[in-house]
Amino acid sequence: MSRSALIFALAAVVLVRRPSALPAQGSPASTTLIRNVLLLDGTGGAARPAAVRVSGARIAEVGALTPRSGEMVVDGNGLTLSPGFIDTHSHADRALVRGNDGTGALSQGITTVVVGEDGGSPYPLAAFFDSLARRGMPMNVAAYVGHGTVRGRVMGNNYKRHATDAEVGRMKEVLAAELKSGALGLSSGLEYDPGIYSARSEVVELAKVAASAGGRYISHIRSEDRTEWDAIDEIIEIGKQARLPVQISHTKLAMKSLWGQGDSLIHVLNRARAAGVDITADVYPYRYWQSGLSVLFPERNFTDRKAAEFALDQVSPPDEITLTSYGPHPEYAGKTVAQIATERGTDPATTLLALVKDADDARKAGHPSGETIIAASMDERDIEKIMAWPFTNICTDGELDGRHPRGYGSFTRVLGRYVRERRVVSLPEAIRKMTSLAADNVGIVNRGRVVPGAFADLVLFDPTTVIDNATPADPHALSTGIAKVWVNGKLAYEGGKTTGARGGMVVRRK
Ligand SMILES: [Zn+2]
Repeated sequence: MSRSALIFALAAVVLVRRPSALPAQGSPASTTLIRNVLLLDGTGGAARPAAVRVSGARIAEVGALTPRSGEMVVDGNGLTLSPGFIDTHSHADRALVRGNDGTGALSQGITTVVVGEDGGSPYPLAAFFDSLARRGMPMNVAAYVGHGTVRGRVMGNNYKRHATDAEVGRMKEVLAAELKSGALGLSSGLEYDPGIYSARSEVVELAKVAASAGGRYISHIRSEDRTEWDAIDEIIEIGKQARLPVQISHTKLAMKSLWGQGDSLIHVLNRARAAGVDITADVYPYRYWQSGLSVLFPERNFTDRKAAEFALDQVSPPDEITLTSYGPHPEYAGKTVAQIATERGTDPATTLLALVKDADDARKAGHPSGETIIAASMDERDIEKIMAWPFTNICTDGELDGRHPRGYGSFTRVLGRYVRERRVVSLPEAIRKMTSLAADNVGIVNRGRVVPGAFADLVLFDPTTVIDNATPADPHALSTGIAKVWVNGKLAYEGGKTTGARGGMVVRRK
């Protein structure tokens, strides 16, 4: 706008500003007042009585506000209002493309999901964003560009080796193009194919591309058990060399001999921060993870009995590894390795080797084996230590239609079990970890704080009753205590149901 046009526009506003015709900003019909709430604004400060005025997609005012005539008023009945929760590690991608209504996320208070995690992102990302925007999204969606996806574009099926310099050069071009979609940065899954075969220098080179675009790095690190300390060193080194913020995904100490070392982990992370590396973490509140059988064999030695015995002794015992799906024998779904071993009349290690080999053979024969497991490997003491670290935010690592209860219960589980029952962190601090810290850790702006001008992603909940109800046996049970959820000012969830509003936006790197 030119200077004279600006002056003209200002004059026009002054001319139409009569007492009977308030400007559009305060127009009664377009605002909603949420009153009679205790506000946790996302910054970690104590709850305070307040009202919040929403105008369109944004928060207009916060404070002691009284209703205007004709304005829509929502009585919060003394419940707690906070920013909508931001899930920095989500696997909602596929279900969203299929048109899922977002119940799993909205019902636990999540208003923004960050996808493209663990090195795997929709490709091309711009088309994914376009199709979501066309269809309409139940919640906001941001994404990282997956290292594995980029590697796959360049190396195809010939990926079980280090990349050549020329291949890394082509990966950098693919990544730079993908980052133009507004992705938050680069994600990696260095415990998964094809990322597990990458040299560190390849990841550093790509992280530098993300850094020069103002992006970040988030990683399912190379090991969460056998070589975890090396993997932690690696992500710190990537942050140092590529000079960008790095985040450890779903942080855990997932091996018996590592249990109880949460303090050592925090010490290493604090030392890295003191040395100038902007390293942060996210965590979900369960002792058990969900993945594939192959992660139990980091050397991909699927016939090595010693490796199987080690996995069952140290990583997860046979009665705590449950197959949630299994292509070669669909009837095994829901059974533990111990149960399958009994059925087959063999020992657990023999059974585990047969299961992982049959799944691998199916994959090689071109039949996607669809094998997933839920396995318990973590210790509650470590989960608590990691969660309490001031730079850890909360995530789900969940799907909208998955078998792990985290897809429906992570955030409410933190609020019910870790905050109210066990007092691992205070309620204002937990909300900070779900909102402003989460936004800051992945580079999302204008969300995660209840302040004028921010987007009106909001959750109204009861801190005295909020709790998860999802379990491995009933993974889609709704949480208790989430009263209402708004996404960009639109009511998205109420009374145990989504409203069908598709108020979500694509969230892009600033
Ligand atoms: Zn992961």
